[in-house]
Amino acid sequence: MDCKEQLGIDLHIHSDASDGTFSPSEILGLAQEQNLGAIAITDHDTIKGAREAVAAGIPSSIRFLTGIEISANPPPSFPCSGSFHILGYGLGLDDPILNQTLEVLQNARRERNPQMIRRLNRLGIDISLNEVTARFKGGQISRPHIAFLMLEKKFVSSIDEAFDNYLGKGKAAYVDKYRVDCGKALKMIRGAGGVPVLAHPGLLSFHEGEPIESLSPTSPDKPVPDVFPDTFPRHLLSGKSLPPTSLIGGRVYRGRRRGHAFVGDMIRTLKAMGLRGIESHHPEHTPSQVAFYAKLAKRHGLLVTGGTDFHGSLKPDIQMGSGRGDFFVPYALYEKLKSEIGMRGEECKDEG
Ligand SMILES: [Zn+2]
Ligand SMILES: [Zn+2]
Repeated sequence: MDCKEQLGIDLHIHSDASDGTFSPSEILGLAQEQNLGAIAITDHDTIKGAREAVAAGIPSSIRFLTGIEISANPPPSFPCSGSFHILGYGLGLDDPILNQTLEVLQNARRERNPQMIRRLNRLGIDISLNEVTARFKGGQISRPHIAFLMLEKKFVSSIDEAFDNYLGKGKAAYVDKYRVDCGKALKMIRGAGGVPVLAHPGLLSFHEGEPIESLSPTSPDKPVPDVFPDTFPRHLLSGKSLPPTSLIGGRVYRGRRRGHAFVGDMIRTLKAMGLRGIESHHPEHTPSQVAFYAKLAKRHGLLVTGGTDFHGSLKPDIQMGSGRGDFFVPYALYEKLKSEIGMRGEECKDEG
């Protein structure tokens, strides 16, 4: 039994080892200032941030989990645009397969950046990779860093504009990135002694599907509306704007609750592949999404986790621990995750 029940936690934090702007030591300092009970550093495709935090020494007032956020290809039967983000907690940092695979992913990221910069240059945006790396020393460079420099050099008026016009998926300077398959990511995390969790499922965007007129109540000469709107999970609970019949991954979903059925199938599939939890608490989830994904996790015997997806000044409206101000993840979720990882219970030394 721990003694931090009243405290909040943040299990989704990016350091400057990926696309956050704070170093792991600064993150530990901030977590102390904010009186957080537990944190995890979950950088994109790297454990360098977690490793640095451990090397720096974890303050005795904070519980710390090693972590990662892997961008994975969606399972074949659940195609979505972009990637599935798989969080891993409590990883053994010296696991050879984990380290080898992350090395491959880091190399792929490094090759992608010069390609995107070349495309931007052709579009008249005068920035170089040297400028980006000089501006963000130390960590891996990715699209948010490029966007940030575009903003600083006034080629765009916001990070969003950089993504909407240039760097977003399908935009003129976008280059697709190499990803591991979802199953491999889950297996790799578990192989390293960690617990895999599906990050922010409400942000997944599903778009596959053909109109299936024979199944639709709409008359044949009337076009069936888009079978599967882009941001399907966001509309799970409204259901109003959805067409009556949806086809995705070769399965047909009908009726008002077809969104729920679809996501239920997806979670069942991921669980069979090794998934152990769902990140229901995320600043981009609405309160009803938080409740929905927590309920879904319970129904499938999975853990619930949460964090702010803190990136420092790359996402200035999100604060560590508190998101946009009212975000709170209870300490009890850390304790459940900790016991899943199999860590020994820690005695509280700083009570009173
Ligand atoms: Zn993510
Ligand atoms: Zn993240």
